[in-house]
Amino acid sequence: MNFFKKLSLKLRLTLLFVFLFTLLLAIFNYSLYHEYSKIRSTEFDANLYNYAIDVAESLDIDSYGEVEFDPGIIKLNEKMFPFSLGKSFITVLDVNGKIVAHSQNTIGDTNNLLNESVLFRVLKKGASYSDMQGLDGTRFRVIHYLLPVLKIDSPLILQIVVPTISMDQTKSNLKQFIIMSISIIILLSIFIGYGFMGRALLPIVEITKKTNQIEVKNLKDRVPVPMSKDEIRNLAMTINHLLERLDLSFESQERFVQNASHQLKTPLAIIKGELEIFRSDKRSELELSRFLESMAQEIDSLVKLTNDLLILARVDNVENHSSLSMTAIDEVLLTQVSRLSKLASKKNVSLNINFDEFYLNDGSNPLINVDSELIGVLFFNYIENAIKYSEAETCVDIKAKRCEQEITIEVKDQGMGIRPGQEEKIFDRFYRGDSNHRTQGSGLGLAICKAVAKLHDGEVWASRNIDGVGATFYFKLKNKGG
Ligand code: ADP
Repeated sequence: MNFFKKLSLKLRLTLLFVFLFTLLLAIFNYSLYHEYSKIRSTEFDANLYNYAIDVAESLDIDSYGEVEFDPGIIKLNEKMFPFSLGKSFITVLDVNGKIVAHSQNTIGDTNNLLNESVLFRVLKKGASYSDMQGLDGTRFRVIHYLLPVLKIDSPLILQIVVPTISMDQTKSNLKQFIIMSISIIILLSIFIGYGFMGRALLPIVEITKKTNQIEVKNLKDRVPVPMSKDEIRNLAMTINHLLERLDLSFESQERFVQNASHQLKTPLAIIKGELEIFRSDKRSELELSRFLESMAQEIDSLVKLTNDLLILARVDNVENHSSLSMTAIDEVLLTQVSRLSKLASKKNVSLNINFDEFYLNDGSNPLINVDSELIGVLFFNYIENAIKYSEAETCVDIKAKRCEQEITIEVKDQGMGIRPGQEEKIFDRFYRGDSNHRTQGSGLGLAICKAVAKLHDGEVWASRNIDGVGATFYFKLKNKGG
């Protein structure tokens, strides 16, 4: 078995094909040979029977009651028989096996072949056939035929022994022909099968070669897809789909790294530029404090960006939800609201919370299986954006709803709203829409929300408010915690 595993697929398939083909051929030829031998033997016995009738008719009983036997009977009427008449040995026996008459050529070992079972069959059916082998190995067919001789009280039995040389010869010729043709066919099928297998497996060779050549720098290349609609085509298409996905993910990784380094470079360049200007001359107290204020702002945005990147990297790399725990979502939401209350009051934005549709009928708090830290980040980003993109003296409504097994959190503001067609795009990494110049930010906040939702098999989306003022951001989650 191990030996076969070491062979190439091409050779293994060829051997399998040849083995099955040979097996079928051998079974078919054996059946053919067997059937042919049976027909020949039946034909032979029928001829022997006819010959026995002819011989029986030519026998006579003389005036003393002795059987008269014409030795010339052996060359009977020039009829054609499938055995040589010159070598047929004829004997007439009585039921006790005593020889009553015999042909001149009859030799010792063919004298009396009558035994009890043969006698029983002859008396019952009129004739019996058997085989015998001469001392020199020649095979003979023997017929015992019940003679219809009426003048003698006890029945007589005619025994004829004929060689089966010609029939055996024909059978052996046929056998040789079959063996020879099977050998030639096996040899031919090995060569033809090997060639065909090679052709059939050629696309696999090409696919392997091309796959080996593909590296990060030529991820756009694809393996050849054969025209035939078979498993190899499916394999090639699957590899191409895999390459497509790899290519897309490499591209997005590359974009991410470029964007991240660009975002990191901007505040650093500002800090460097301001430092150089500041160093070049003596500055007043006021200028110093403005400078420090600006430095602090840039450093804040750097810290925020680095934090966002770290959170994204963490969410992207989570393979199992090991940090999931039964959490009171309303508490997480309230914590984030209180963290942002200072920012809201600075801008004079009021934060309204509504949990009416969230609590259970008995007033208890449903617990949900989530990563409380990441869900906290999601709520923080939603509410921070709502404050950030709102005008002063407006409201932000935060609502938690529970409907059967689903929890929905809504954050609705009266701010600048979302431009039509941007609802999905704003969740992309580093996408900042029109807010680029007006507000500080990295464009990662909503992307983090999307990744956190995905990690929890949840959904995030945004829509413009019906009255045309502001936008509402949603987060929907299946309540797996019951
Ligand atoms: P950032 O706020 O740092 O720009 P986000 O990923 O949080 O990044 O948001 C992406 C973009 O989505 C924002 O730049 C802004 O254009 C838009 N956006 C987010 N929240 C709101 C909101 N509440 N109202 C209007 N636009 C918003």
